Amino acid sequence: MSISEKPAAPVGRVPGGRSSWPVLQEPQGLIVYMCLLLVAALFLFGVAFALTVFSLKDLVTFTALVVGAAISVEGSRRLGTPTPAGFNRDLLGAWWFPVVLLLPPVYSLLIPIPVYLMVQQRTRRTLVHRRVFNATSVGLSGFLVSVIWHGVWGGGLVGGLGGVLEAGEPLTTGPGVLVAVLCCAGFTVLNTLLVALAARISSGPGNSLRPMWDREALIVDAVELCVGVTVAILAQLSLFLLVIAVPPVLLLQRSLLYQQLQMAARTDPKTGLLNAPTWEQEASVEIARARSSRGRAAVLIVDIDHFKRVNDSHGHLFGDQVLLGVATTIAQQLRQSDLLGRFGGEEFVVLLPGSDTTEAWRAAERLRSQVGGMDIAVDGVPVHITISIGVAVIGDHGNDLVELLTAADLALYRAKETGRNRVCLPAGRPGVGGTIPGPREAELPDPGGPAEPTDPREVT
Ligand code: GH3
Ligand code: MG
Ligand code: MG
Repeated sequence: MSISEKPAAPVGRVPGGRSSWPVLQEPQGLIVYMCLLLVAALFLFGVAFALTVFSLKDLVTFTALVVGAAISVEGSRRLGTPTPAGFNRDLLGAWWFPVVLLLPPVYSLLIPIPVYLMVQQRTRRTLVHRRVFNATSVGLSGFLVSVIWHGVWGGGLVGGLGGVLEAGEPLTTGPGVLVAVLCCAGFTVLNTLLVALAARISSGPGNSLRPMWDREALIVDAVELCVGVTVAILAQLSLFLLVIAVPPVLLLQRSLLYQQLQMAARTDPKTGLLNAPTWEQEASVEIARARSSRGRAAVLIVDIDHFKRVNDSHGHLFGDQVLLGVATTIAQQLRQSDLLGRFGGEEFVVLLPGSDTTEAWRAAERLRSQVGGMDIAVDGVPVHITISIGVAVIGDHGNDLVELLTAADLALYRAKETGRNRVCLPAGRPGVGGTIPGPREAELPDPGGPAEPTDPREVT
């Protein structure tokens, strides 16, 4: 696993510096963290290098595994790789794990260097410091696990575990394979935690992370683990057996790419949200379900105010960062069951299943105030972003997705017309003129009028 090669989502905070060194645009904490890991890796490399007795056999094994990794990289190059936001999953572990298990620990620190150089040169050119960080994370995780495998387990420092396991069993015996699998699982967990910590630092404290492991990620990690240990067993039996290991690895890599491409076809590349066709498809299903069960559902259309000025004043790249920041802020305010998509340009759509007018209004107001409170700056100068939101509720403003989107769009138009930075319901429909149905209607502002508190902040 590796950290996204795209800049991390700037949650509530958009970097505005225009340094020519991309690494300097990263949050300070992340730079310090990356440097610390790199220094630790270099230190351990120095120590391990001095302690290692190099043999020709090990060098040949290392070279064979690097060649295997090179073929994998070339294989993925031909297919092209989508770049998802968040964590990237790959099958390079098929080559890390044999190095961890078969060679002295110093090789675990070395293998990411040629492999990531090849990835950078042959597959995707991307932010160099993130590549270096990913290589460092893989190297450190592999090194620590390799020390445990060779030193603690292989060196016989671990006694029999209740008589079931005998320390130092080789990779070709059942207990040996079991411990190897556990070690490789430890590698995956450690590497994931190092990467997740970087993502955490990057997104700032108090912000929730994208989940490190969902079902798909777990499957990929499990497959990677099985393949890596299998390649290690084959390589231990004979390096010539690597010839029969490479085709299945390439095939699995191809299936992983297929899954990533499928995912990419559903999502918007700039924000990682559902794209418009996918959102419409999933929202239609939810609305049909709500109608058949006489349930509630609401649609919000969110539009960034005066976004063109942001681009004109600070450039499109900064505009893209703002888009990502707004998308992330909105996503953090929603429930798991809500459906958020990028509708196009600087517009987002939200489906709130089960929400009536009162709840939808509150949710929209929450989004408006959170986005309005985002702390964004360009070269230390604050930039204020506001959004306008049109709300439409099933039954009150429409009965299918097209009707609801039309009504929400009309409401958004009203929000823009009446001054922006506000939430509106469609005119001439229930809920207008201070008559929003619901038990706590007295708490709601007049939806026809300005959202309270009226906030004249706009993009500067
Ligand atoms: P309003 O408050 O009326 O919505 O004003 P606005 O400027 O936000 O709306 P307008 O429709 O005039 O301009 C939308 C702008 O959004 C223009 C376009 O350049 C920008 N935009 C659309 N998609 C992207 C994108 O992916 N990235 C960037 N940076 N800008 C985008
Ligand atoms: Mg617009
Ligand atoms: Mg706009």
